Amino acid sequence: MTERRETLLITGGAGFIGSALVRRAIGEGRRVVNLDKLTYAANLRNLESVENNPLYTFVKGDIADRPLLDRVLGDAKPDAVMHLAAETHVDRSIDGPADFIQTNIVGSYALMEAARDYWRGARGGDPEAFRFHHVSTDEVFGALGETGVFTEESPYAPNSPYAASKAASDMLARAWGRTFGLPVVISNCSNNYGPFQFPEKLIPTVIFNAIAGAPIPVYGRGENVRDWLHVDDHAEALLAIVDRGAPLETYNVGGDEEVRNIDLVRRLCAALDELRPKAGGGSYAEQIAFVEDRPGHDLRYAIDASKIAGTLGWRPRTAFADGLRATALWYLENDAWRQSIQDGGFDGRRLGLEGTSP
Ligand code: NAD
Repeated sequence: MTERRETLLITGGAGFIGSALVRRAIGEGRRVVNLDKLTYAANLRNLESVENNPLYTFVKGDIADRPLLDRVLGDAKPDAVMHLAAETHVDRSIDGPADFIQTNIVGSYALMEAARDYWRGARGGDPEAFRFHHVSTDEVFGALGETGVFTEESPYAPNSPYAASKAASDMLARAWGRTFGLPVVISNCSNNYGPFQFPEKLIPTVIFNAIAGAPIPVYGRGENVRDWLHVDDHAEALLAIVDRGAPLETYNVGGDEEVRNIDLVRRLCAALDELRPKAGGGSYAEQIAFVEDRPGHDLRYAIDASKIAGTLGWRPRTAFADGLRATALWYLENDAWRQSIQDGGFDGRRLGLEGTSP
């Protein structure tokens, strides 16, 4: 069995998780080609620490562009494709599902076809000589009630257009493995948090709004539960899977840190109170504002990550309390990064109220 895959083609490497993965892989001395279209969610500042590293190459392009894919694969000769490029924001998928269908399904299909040709040609069709790693979400499993956890055997029941598009690409990856023998691995991960996350997602939204003195929006009554995983722990899990995961296996990756949204927001406000006390006194928690819930908002996600722990020896390292405080501090200390988001035209407008709640 291969010890380590040295040359990686990573798609979506200018996004939140992709950039954490690129930084870690380069830090470990691997060669990385990052293929990214640079949508609104991308930020090349996320990669400043590696941009001049000789192990790193950036290619701007779309995963649906087959001639480009053939060229990039032919030049890079990767030991694995790690596929993270996607449209990822549930609220945007409610307002405009088309981009989600195009990138997450059609784009993933193009990438799998290109990878299949490359694997059969340059890699001689040897399953050990290549991996196609499809990075997915626990949202494909739908919502849990008060109890229970998602395992690798949980049935698919996606509820949002985003989740449905990821479920579809998971199914394509499975089929490309079963039908064509492409050595596919799939991972389904819980909510990530950490530095460099685009501020439309919950944790940076809270931080950006808190320090701007703006209302901190909490959907519904904030009772939805998510299982939080630090992005660096996720990046480590992804490399364990691409190195040692078995073809056709799927792996659930989670932080074992279930928290209700409202409790998370209160904890984050308390961390901010300590790290940057409000000028006029009081707590940032006073800015919390309950807003109309997201249509089809899944109540609870929780991951059973015992398979990856048992077979690949990966476990999350970061306790949520420590990771949350460090994340708050990172956003406070990185003014230039925050400014780059605002300069990019992000206005924090509420999205995704178009659907009809069930
Ligand atoms: P992100 O939105 O921060 O970044 C996505 C990246 O993909 C961006 O850099 C964007 O430019 C790029 N991209 C989009 N469309 C593209 C296209 N057609 N061609 C090339 N590049 C394109 O996303 P993220 O939060 O880092 O998520 C990465 C992956 O992990 C996604 O596949 C997502 O479904 C999955 N995931 C995310 C989470 C989470 O909590 N963020 C949890 C589980 C799974």
